[in-house]
Amino acid sequence: MSVTTDVKTYFNYINGEWVAASTDQLDASISPANRHEIVGYVQKSGKDDLDRAVEAAKHAQIAWRKLSGAARGDYLYKAANALERRLDEIAECMTREMGKTFPEAKGETARGVAILRYYAGEGMRKIGDVIPSSDSEAFMFTTRAPLGVVGVITPWNFPVAIPIWKMAPALIYGNAVVIKPAQETAVTAAKVIECFQEAGLPAGVVNMVTGPGSVIGQAIIDHPGINGITFTGSDTVGKNVGLGALKRGAKYQLEMGGKNPVIVANDADLDQAVEATISGGLRSTGQKCTATSRVIVQSEVYEAFKEKLIASVKQLKVGDGLHGETWMGPCASENQLNTVLSYIEKGIAEGATLLYGGKRIEDGELGNGFYVEPTVFENVTSKMAIAQEEIFGPVLALIKVETLEEAVEIANDVAFGLSASIFTKNIGSMLSFVNEMDAGLVRINAESAGVELQAPFGGMKQSSSHSREQGQAAIEFFTAIKTVFVKP
Ligand code: NAP
Ligand code: MG
Repeated sequence: MSVTTDVKTYFNYINGEWVAASTDQLDASISPANRHEIVGYVQKSGKDDLDRAVEAAKHAQIAWRKLSGAARGDYLYKAANALERRLDEIAECMTREMGKTFPEAKGETARGVAILRYYAGEGMRKIGDVIPSSDSEAFMFTTRAPLGVVGVITPWNFPVAIPIWKMAPALIYGNAVVIKPAQETAVTAAKVIECFQEAGLPAGVVNMVTGPGSVIGQAIIDHPGINGITFTGSDTVGKNVGLGALKRGAKYQLEMGGKNPVIVANDADLDQAVEATISGGLRSTGQKCTATSRVIVQSEVYEAFKEKLIASVKQLKVGDGLHGETWMGPCASENQLNTVLSYIEKGIAEGATLLYGGKRIEDGELGNGFYVEPTVFENVTSKMAIAQEEIFGPVLALIKVETLEEAVEIANDVAFGLSASIFTKNIGSMLSFVNEMDAGLVRINAESAGVELQAPFGGMKQSSSHSREQGQAAIEFFTAIKTVFVKP
């Protein structure tokens, strides 16, 4: 590949140094807003590079785990400050690299800062319990031990927040980290790692190796020096990670897809429901694991809701995420665009009615990017692919129902269970939704896509390996409980 001189090359970060991959190969990270724009070159590493990173992490972890939680927290506070100082620059890089709008990218980067500060504080909070022993002379308590080296595999849709919500808890509880970010957004990831470097973390505590998932991701799965693997990404890859980790007895955590519903009840505030459906379904071009994709509406308000929804969708401005007036950016890659277009075709072929959108946008400059119209289907039945499979694009499927019981039944009629929301004024309807909805995140009169960093996050059914990330729940994955019995 020819490397033009004005585009920066990003290296692997191993043992506190930026180094080229042993393969001498690079990938170009391109902008989905304009396929001709190269955001940066990143290393296309091989297994040797991963081996070196794991060695460095293993060695560094010995001293890192001996620091007090407060001392480790100090490094995280410094990393937060570095990220905050570079917020606009890193957010702009994210927008160029994966397409989400600049305000969304800034919001995500600010979230990264807040997560770092949250976990910095966790270094000084309780990590165990005292349990009365049946021996009256003895003292029994629990404490927590780090896993050792944690392998982190992340997707491209939240290139700052997801790496940080995995690395920050891993580090605060005394683990060293080797991260393989999505190659699609490896430039943004490198900038996040630079913030850890600016914070002065001891060499080897954080390492980054970029490259294809099939090589570097697989090497993380297989490496005997990696004690735990935390993965966020697709269902298929996630299950492979879990199987591989299980085979060699490593701890693993998988956060995977969603097919998230919103239910609009007859007594819903329709304006609120429309706004939340659009925000939850179409922000980030529908590429959030918690994005709304099924819109289940009770028949009495169906026509009114539909009319308001379409009127609002028509107003959405699609374009380059760096332009101030843009509401929705492109799909993150050509692959992603093709997946979305193929689901739209499938929807039509299966007999759903295309109400709005459905086409690639190729007018003028947008023709150089991976743009698709926000799309709304109706007459969707629960068996159709567009009602069952994760599309990961700006596509909403309207499903009409008579009763709320039917609505919840359809809402639950998928393999996934990440997030779900309902719009209603009736407390009884709210509570039965809370009780009957199989989802890790259940939201009332709020969009499906809201996540708070201090609360547990993760899915039921096939959306996760049944563990939770974020908030205090993170300690469960990143540490092992030790029960201690002391007798004088
Ligand atoms: P993906 O294709 O599964 O990739 C995720 C990560 O796994 C990337 O770093 C990828 O590397 C790597 N990978 C690919 N093949 C691998 C293999 N054989 N072994 C080990 N690692 C491998 O997912 P994506 O397309 O990036 O992300 C979209 C998916 O993430 C959606 O399904 C979405 O729902 C899910 N997601 C879930 C959550 C959640 O918290 N539940 C949050 C965000 C996203 P390369 O891509 O660099 O090759
Ligand atoms: Mg890109």
